[in-house]
Amino acid sequence: MFWADELAARVSGPQVINDSKTPSGTVHVGSLRGPVLLDVITRALRAAGLPTSLLYGIDDLDPMDAQALLTPDAVDRFMGMPLAHVPDPVGDCHPSYARHFASMFIDTFARIGVHPDRYYWMSEIYPTGQMDRYIRTALDRAELVREIYLRVSHVERPAGWLPVHPICSTCGRIGTTLATDWDGETIAFACLPDHVAWARGCGTTGRLSPFGGNAKLPWNLEWAAQWSLFGVTIEPCGKDLATAGGSRDRSDAIAREVFDREPPLNLPYEFLNIGGRKMSTSKGHGASAHRIAEVVPAEQLRLLFLRSRPNHAIEFDPDGTDAIPRLFDESDRIAAATAGREVRGELPPDPDRLFAASLVDPDADSAAEAAAYRPPFAHLALLLQVPGVDPATAFATEKGEPLSDREQAILAERTGAARGWLETYAPERARLAVQRDALPAAAAVLDGTQRAVLAALAETLASQAAWDGESLQGAIFESARAAELPPGRAFAALYLAFLGGPNGPRAGWLLASLDRDFVVARLRAAAAPDTLTP
Ligand SMILES: [Zn+2]
Repeated sequence: MFWADELAARVSGPQVINDSKTPSGTVHVGSLRGPVLLDVITRALRAAGLPTSLLYGIDDLDPMDAQALLTPDAVDRFMGMPLAHVPDPVGDCHPSYARHFASMFIDTFARIGVHPDRYYWMSEIYPTGQMDRYIRTALDRAELVREIYLRVSHVERPAGWLPVHPICSTCGRIGTTLATDWDGETIAFACLPDHVAWARGCGTTGRLSPFGGNAKLPWNLEWAAQWSLFGVTIEPCGKDLATAGGSRDRSDAIAREVFDREPPLNLPYEFLNIGGRKMSTSKGHGASAHRIAEVVPAEQLRLLFLRSRPNHAIEFDPDGTDAIPRLFDESDRIAAATAGREVRGELPPDPDRLFAASLVDPDADSAAEAAAYRPPFAHLALLLQVPGVDPATAFATEKGEPLSDREQAILAERTGAARGWLETYAPERARLAVQRDALPAAAAVLDGTQRAVLAALAETLASQAAWDGESLQGAIFESARAAELPPGRAFAALYLAFLGGPNGPRAGWLLASLDRDFVVARLRAAAAPDTLTP
């Protein structure tokens, strides 16, 4: 059974799925695994008849602690401030740093078909007073919180430590403050110059009410409080948080013992490893990962995340490899199996379920989508490199009838993907160049029958009336048949003679893109026996 359906079979009643994220920078492709899993779980629960809502939180009262995107002057002014109160680093396109980066990942989610029912912003939740009861409970049970940190995670907080981060009433920083002395209504706070290495507090001391947006809970308590506030029943989390004694264990214990509520069902998920490097939200290799999401369309990106069970790490190394064409081929095999066509090669379990889950639109007609003609990616990438070839015409010939509007759209999407792949990732051998100056040395391996076919083809083409892909393809087949050479060997001979390698696009269209005199001369040169010993 598909893993999301297994999960749906384990629960009953209305479900609330939650995830949240600190909007501190750009989204890396690896960090999209979580949102895609949330979406597929939501779809599976709804398909099982369970009323389900999907929430996504923006933890934008978290302090600014990533200096990379700030100018030196801005570092002095804004480090330690809540992200919601730091200006947009790029310009004035958004009201804050948090809004700028959150809108980037909200856009990315939408592009890959992830549409939470509600986005909530912690900078808006705290001022409404909805978090006050959890802040009060956490302060009243501060000793218990300290004991849980120590017992679950071996993290020791000093005596008198309070689980709350006040916002300094003078400078507005939240990363530099320390709270002490809870009297039931107010806390004492100090904004310390040396509390953290990455930000400097202003030195203010005083008392304030921690309620109504004046303070936030530390991350583990805030997480557990979100579960209570929104009635969260399911929250998958990345393996980095789900380690024994890690963040999730701490928040689970806080939910049970401090907020008196069972934590939501967890579904820990593994990372996406790009070329053997772990891709989590905060660590490196972002630029190349970001490019992957630009090259791989949403449907295939979803499949990449969904074809393995969540607890399996995904290895993906697109650089200089066929990993992206293979992903498309797998996507096409899954579509073919869903459409009831015979499939050669490997298939994952539950292909039709996996196919529906990979579609961006949850309401798409999965059978109609699966039946649509999908141009093979590697073949398209080759065709795009042959001058004068129209892929739409070539693939309509392949399909046997004109492409539908939907198929045209699939072709257009794949054309963009194939161009991006050729530019960024494709291995040298996938790049095609007609060797115009001289017969490629590689043609020396041609055997007698192949040469005879090329010689015969040269004579046919010298007087061939029609010079189009289909006619030339027919002439190649005819010459091969007459010499009893398997067509594949005839095509290989042509690729060696024109491209210098054993592979190429459909040969008729390749030749039709070249001028007749050149083609005939090259065929005669390749067929000549003296090239047997170069
Ligand atoms: Zn201050």
